[in-house]
Amino acid sequence: MDKYAVLGNPINHSRSPFIHTMFAEAESQNMEYGRLLCPLDDFKGTVDAFRKEGKGLNVTVPFKEQAFAYADILTDRAQRAGAVNTLKFCDDGSVIGDNTDGAGFIYDIKRLGWNFSGKNILVLGAGGAARGIIGSILDEKPESVLLVNRTIEKAELIKQSFNEINVTTYDGLLAEGRMFDVIVNATSLSLNGEVPRINESMYSNVLAYDLMYGKTGATVFTDYAMSNGAQEVSDGLGMLVGQAALSFNLWRGVAPDPAPVLKALRNQL
Ligand code: NDP
Repeated sequence: MDKYAVLGNPINHSRSPFIHTMFAEAESQNMEYGRLLCPLDDFKGTVDAFRKEGKGLNVTVPFKEQAFAYADILTDRAQRAGAVNTLKFCDDGSVIGDNTDGAGFIYDIKRLGWNFSGKNILVLGAGGAARGIIGSILDEKPESVLLVNRTIEKAELIKQSFNEINVTTYDGLLAEGRMFDVIVNATSLSLNGEVPRINESMYSNVLAYDLMYGKTGATVFTDYAMSNGAQEVSDGLGMLVGQAALSFNLWRGVAPDPAPVLKALRNQL
């Protein structure tokens, strides 16, 4: 039986085994998918050992940059993101590195019926998740993308890869006083029950998306956006299932339908 796993540290919380096991059943694929806790100082040793039997890995925090360095062949979107969330171990011994986060995000945007073309987009946060989605947002031909981060140096590093975007700090954003059509929360603030430090009037009539997800589909960010006049909101569970479907496709050559898995996962949370 072909072996796959999600590798990270910590990894216990990961929903990927649930998602991929459902995909495998739906697509009649003879495979198993587990969790792999990787020591912080031994990414290479852990992946080398898994590769002796395994066919592929999803890679999560904090190893996406090391996975990028490990791959022999990078997809364009992995190259652009500077990070890899999917490794495929090929029969000829080569390793393909892909990044499906951005395409998973856009899958969910389309599922929601949202359209970024010609829109002014505000992205909050400049961590791994923001880096993964920026290229895919730009592919949707928005009017503008402004990336805001507490640590401006991290935002500037992303701008080095994506020259079309503008970057600033939260203070800079407050001073500009601009309005947006879409606000994407790619910070980890929701994990702590906090909302980003932006003017509440900015939520008026926007589409607001939080990459973080929860049982009810609401997060502190989506609740706050709604109570300040957002038009529509979503959490990031659909992105999670969307990126998983694209990894599955790279490994198995079939494209599973994320919709039933998203529904089952929501009930299971
Ligand atoms: P990182 O740790 O790489 O980045 C965290 C970001 O949050 C940084 O921009 C950081 O700013 C910002 N931040 C943290 N604390 C504060 C604060 N007090 N004030 C202002 N900004 C703050 O995390 P990731 O990018 O990997 O993940 C971000 C979120 O996206 C998480 O909630 C994660 O669960 C979610 N996610 C969801 C996915 C999905 O499929 N739905 C996929 C990947 C991630 P600074 O640079 O200044 O530290």
